[in-house]
Amino acid sequence: MKITMKKKKTVLVRVLGASLLAVFVWSGCGGNDDGEREGEGEGYSASIADTAAGGDASVSSRQKGTARIATVARPKSDKVIMVVVDALRADGLGCYGYPKDTSPTIDRVAKEGILFERMHSASPWTAPSFGTFYTGVSPTVHGAGSMLARGSSKGTTLFGVTVGGIRKDLPTLPRLLPPEVRKGAIINNSFVSKELGFARGVDDFDHRNAHLTRYRTADEVTGIAVKWLEEHWDGPFFLMAHYFDPHIQYGPPKKYLAQFAPDRPRRIAYPFVDHHPARDGTLKPNDAEKAYIRGLYNGEVRFADDQIGVLIGAMEKVGLMDDTWLIITSDHGEEHFDHGSFEHGHRYEEEVVRVPFIVRAPGGKWKAGTRIADPVSHVDILPTILDLYSVPSLPHFEGRSMFPLLDGKERPDRTSYMEFNLFKGQQCALFDGRYKVVWDFRRNRAFMYDLKEDPGELTKLGKEHPMYEGMLERVKARREELTRQAKGKVFDKSELSQEAADALKSLGYIK
Ligand SMILES: [Zn+2]
Repeated sequence: MKITMKKKKTVLVRVLGASLLAVFVWSGCGGNDDGEREGEGEGYSASIADTAAGGDASVSSRQKGTARIATVARPKSDKVIMVVVDALRADGLGCYGYPKDTSPTIDRVAKEGILFERMHSASPWTAPSFGTFYTGVSPTVHGAGSMLARGSSKGTTLFGVTVGGIRKDLPTLPRLLPPEVRKGAIINNSFVSKELGFARGVDDFDHRNAHLTRYRTADEVTGIAVKWLEEHWDGPFFLMAHYFDPHIQYGPPKKYLAQFAPDRPRRIAYPFVDHHPARDGTLKPNDAEKAYIRGLYNGEVRFADDQIGVLIGAMEKVGLMDDTWLIITSDHGEEHFDHGSFEHGHRYEEEVVRVPFIVRAPGGKWKAGTRIADPVSHVDILPTILDLYSVPSLPHFEGRSMFPLLDGKERPDRTSYMEFNLFKGQQCALFDGRYKVVWDFRRNRAFMYDLKEDPGELTKLGKEHPMYEGMLERVKARREELTRQAKGKVFDKSELSQEAADALKSLGYIK
């Protein structure tokens, strides 16, 4: 039963305040003591297209060949929380098939919401991907994370690289939300900064640089989010909460070591910060050392997951989870020597570019347990969020709202495009739902994977494969088109449809 608004606020303050002392942990957070999951190892290959048990009767099942269309309308709410866990590889979570107990909270959110099996990041590293969250276009077009000449006055120099920000003439997510929506962002990555355009339109931009051992940990982020909600929960809001913990360094609180990384090899330190030698190949860890490093990462994932659970638990106690859309995703994944190297920013294999994307409707009933196999991308996130606020997409957006996929109303021709290395050359990649082509455009070299036959991406395919030339042409054409767009005016009010222009005018962000 819903609590009345006034009463709810009183209760909320008390409960959320108490949650800062970690009194309330979401009931879904209990894990198995032995560190292994039981009975939930559904990999995506087994569950693609399956609308799981527990969903409401209206769940579309087009993938099963029927034509049932949703009969229950999507819940309406102008309260949205977007949780971005940095460097969170999708296949490291239970709901994506990982056998360790890293993610009981996120797994429960997935059971109560919609899980997208194949969300690809716009880029293998942070700034370009966040730029796409904000703008709905690819990094070449928005410019955040573009590599500039060292010291260039057009960018910001951090950790030895000079990168550009979001181009100023592009409307950003906070500016596209209706004016009455309170916009908050809790950000813990040095590149997602005010200087690079990420505070534009945000009412409360709570930013802290992060560097290896110095960053705000998950419990701090949850505490800040709870305080922000205390102030703003009773009106329309959009809150982006960024958890940095799974990003290098790997140093989870010690209480997670017994479960995930009990035996420290002599050469590997806790916390693990040796990402340079790990990345350039000089460390050469053996299997036990690799397992320990991955264990530390898993501990960080579980720490973030538990703290997301604390946040949700506090909200749930006062019924705020009945009013709020919850989105959980990541800016990119992380390599743990899967293809011989380490970290992120350097490759386009799945461990680096396949990220979780989970949407839970207010109340956790609508489409609960649905899993969508169609390829989707970071460029689809902005139109999807705007859809929640009934704001129309703009013509220059590259992606589309993901909600029509749920009703079988869209026959997808979706592809995912990725670009902008931080390290090791410059490549871009295109995935069409089965084939992924990776093109090094500086050296004009390419290879392709067939993810249906080779989900581990072990065999590089070339000219001998009948699909190779076509995929190579497609990725080249995409990059050329984006490069052409980036040179011109991207957002042009004169190109808006009458309906979109009227809607945008009524909301006050164009005249
Ligand atoms: Zn990142």
